[in-house]
Amino acid sequence: MVRTSSLPITIRQVTKSYGKNFALDHVDLDIRSGEFLTLLGPSGSGKTTLLTVLAGFTRPDGGSLKFGDTEMICVPPHKRDVGMVFQNYALFPHMTVAANVGFPLKLRGVSATDMAQRVDAALETVRLGGYGGRSVDQLSGGQRQRVALARAIVFEPRIMLMDEPLSALDKQLREHMQLELRQLHDKLGMTTVYVTHDQREALTMSDRIAVISAGRIMQLDVPRTIYEKPTSRFVAEFIGESSFLSVRVSQGRVTLAGRALMTATPARADGEHWLMLRPERLRMVGPDEPDCASVNILQSTLVNRVYQGDSSLLQLELPGAGLISLRSPSNARSDDGLPLGATVRLGLNVQDTVLLGAPGAHA
Ligand code: ADP
Ligand code: MG
Repeated sequence: MVRTSSLPITIRQVTKSYGKNFALDHVDLDIRSGEFLTLLGPSGSGKTTLLTVLAGFTRPDGGSLKFGDTEMICVPPHKRDVGMVFQNYALFPHMTVAANVGFPLKLRGVSATDMAQRVDAALETVRLGGYGGRSVDQLSGGQRQRVALARAIVFEPRIMLMDEPLSALDKQLREHMQLELRQLHDKLGMTTVYVTHDQREALTMSDRIAVISAGRIMQLDVPRTIYEKPTSRFVAEFIGESSFLSVRVSQGRVTLAGRALMTATPARADGEHWLMLRPERLRMVGPDEPDCASVNILQSTLVNRVYQGDSSLLQLELPGAGLISLRSPSNARSDDGLPLGATVRLGLNVQDTVLLGAPGAHA
């Protein structure tokens, strides 16, 4: 299949409310041409609403939407030329695979010979070559999802929209399809907006992730930055595991329960802030390891230990500061012999010492 051309998407101040509630609250978002962008957020955060605004099924109350240089708000769905895949594949159950995939071409008045060729090419692309004559009733969940995908790409759209397309599949197939969808995107090159509430799926697939909450984009960045440098407690909590401890900033100095702390975060206003701690970024250090300029050393007490197969989760009490979690790989035997109540020195690299907005403000 040929590489399709792609288009950037520009969203400005797009708003949609139902009654008193904003489903989309003045959303600004620039999606680059050919990019794989994921909308990630909890249920009810406005992901589907934004996707249906892009598709043309939802008319926003205000704002502007451009594909390339063209304003799209008043363009009906069938003239937007976007490919779409949804959670329930919405295939025609009693039609063959080929008839399902060819349907968008039929709507566009493509000739029968041309159609047959393009349907075959689309089925090859999703690795269902030779399945055209089968009824979709005879296919597995993963195969049906691929038929839905073939139907979305068959007319070579420049924009692809996907709303939780893998959520009906079991874990193993879902993880396999995540990699497949990403490879397909790289091959075809269309601008893709992908919706999920699954953080690992978002981290796995995306060029960039837009984290959305209550109809607002909370943070937009590459997966690594979203995970390692969240800018709000909401994003830090939604993605990955974390503990939060209250720290005090005074004249540029940061203290945790009265002890000085070096941080990677640029200077913050005086007052209380959150220290974000990822369980896998903390490590146990021996009694001899000296304090140095790149590592914060924290004293703690072992409270609980849970074996979880690939790793163990340790709960530790930091005197005067609270409970935190540490994850250590199962092959590290060093923690096995420690009795509960033992004193544990923890190392936290300065670049992993991330401060977030003030307690109470929850941002
Ligand atoms: P998500 O896809 O992130 O789960 P949605 O975009 O479906 O969220 O919904 C966002 C908010 O808008 C929710 O509070 C939802 O209840 C509300 N909403 C969505 N569609 C409608 C509708 N047709 N009528 C009333 N409220 C709606
Ligand atoms: Mg949804």
